[in-house]
Amino acid sequence: MKDLWFEPEHVFTGGVWRVPKSGAYLTVTDPSTGADLCRIARGNAADIDAAVKAARDARAGDWGTMTATERGRVLTRIGQLVLEHADALARIEALDVGKPLTQARNDAIALARYCEFYGGAADKVMGDTIPYQAGYTVYTLREPHGVTGHIVPWNYPMQIIGRSVGAALAMGNACVLKPAEEACLTALAFADLAAQAGLPAGALNVVPGLGAEAGAALSAHPGVDHLSFTGSVGTGGLVQAAAAQNVAPVTLELGGKSPQLVFADADLDAALPFLVNAGIQNAGQTCSAASRILVEQPIHDRVVDMMAARYETLHVGPALHDLDLGPLISARQKEIVESYLGLAAPGQIAAQGQLADGLPPGGCYVRPTLLTGIAPDDRLAQEEIFGPMQVVIPFRDEAEAIAIANGTDYGLVTGVWTRDGARQMRLARALEAGQVFINNYGAAGGVELPFGGVGKSGHGREKGFEALYGFSRLKTVAALHG
Ligand code: NAD
Repeated sequence: MKDLWFEPEHVFTGGVWRVPKSGAYLTVTDPSTGADLCRIARGNAADIDAAVKAARDARAGDWGTMTATERGRVLTRIGQLVLEHADALARIEALDVGKPLTQARNDAIALARYCEFYGGAADKVMGDTIPYQAGYTVYTLREPHGVTGHIVPWNYPMQIIGRSVGAALAMGNACVLKPAEEACLTALAFADLAAQAGLPAGALNVVPGLGAEAGAALSAHPGVDHLSFTGSVGTGGLVQAAAAQNVAPVTLELGGKSPQLVFADADLDAALPFLVNAGIQNAGQTCSAASRILVEQPIHDRVVDMMAARYETLHVGPALHDLDLGPLISARQKEIVESYLGLAAPGQIAAQGQLADGLPPGGCYVRPTLLTGIAPDDRLAQEEIFGPMQVVIPFRDEAEAIAIANGTDYGLVTGVWTRDGARQMRLARALEAGQVFINNYGAAGGVELPFGGVGKSGHGREKGFEALYGFSRLKTVAALHG
């Protein structure tokens, strides 16, 4: 693969590119074509062990002694370098994970924004002074956990690295990052840019590898003081169980089956782009995808017609062609999405997008699909598909809308479309989710906005200032001075 300015086959530990101790490699393929791009390291437990040791050394050395202001400056410089490399990072991501170029560039911009935000926030995390008995002065300190482990998925590598590693570094932790085996290249590029920006050796270590090898080794490592995991429910449970052996705290950002609720008084023209984009962005491979559109009965058919008309204009093709959708991440993901599509009867398919002409036969393409006539308890309305597929479900009244919205195992994000202010307030409280959006969906992704789930969508919060609290531990100091 051309244009890589770092060492894709190496692990990055202690500030140095190294041949993996495992001596093993994985092949990176382009999901747009099926062609091999390059090799990456298949790091193992020995590589993770070296990374954790390098992180501990960094905590005991230059990184651990930096002031919060100095840490903030380094993060800000990393953000600047990421911005300068946004086009290059976007191209790497597009080839590696099949993300259309514009969406990949947006991810690079978001990564830069996380670095800027956490760079600015690093020296603004404060403790409290607590009024207490006479003769005491009591205050709290926010201190880093120490070494934090970060296991991230392949769907938004740059954004998730930004929100997780960015916040952890701001608090002074030293990080060991295990990117998803399908999406390691921008993680490695980020490590290189961070080093160029002056991040001390060992503050960020990156070990590519398989989940069951490098990921499991990181989750179970006794030298890791906190774990941040983003991925599937099943793997999240394994990571939490492994961390429990070391009594290490864990943040879990897992999946979702998020709804948007559309009431009859909604501004449908304003809603339409949000209804569709939130289902098909990144080819539906988004934890907060709005995969269920719940519509008040009188406007159900109208909303279906509007969404169907938009679906028919959607085009799917290679990431570098920058169409509405790229391919799915892998042949395996394509198989999963097609097996869900096979559950729908032909009469339930309201509309589908178009595949571009002349697609490479090795590409992992599926048509975005809008479904109707699906019962709320159907697998298609309950399970996270992680592909470009949305179901439209009618509801009779507010109570039924809430029951359907809350009626899955998940609770990540919800959107509400109504002009009725009192209803907006009632629903904001009644909906079980980590984020509720009123007359929008996603709020443009704001790095400032705490994010995370309830139920099987996980626990803990990333993004915003909340993440800084999550990546720190609180110490209470009580001085008795009379
Ligand atoms: P996954 O759980 O298969 O993999 C996620 C990461 O875990 C990868 O780095 C993988 O290598 C690693 N891993 C796999 N097995 C492991 C093990 N035994 N021990 C430790 N680590 C292991 O998930 P995925 O398929 O990469 O991502 C898709 C899932 O992620 C979806 O469910 C999606 O909703 C979720 N997700 C959630 C968020 C969020 O913020 N809530 C964001 C993006 C993705």
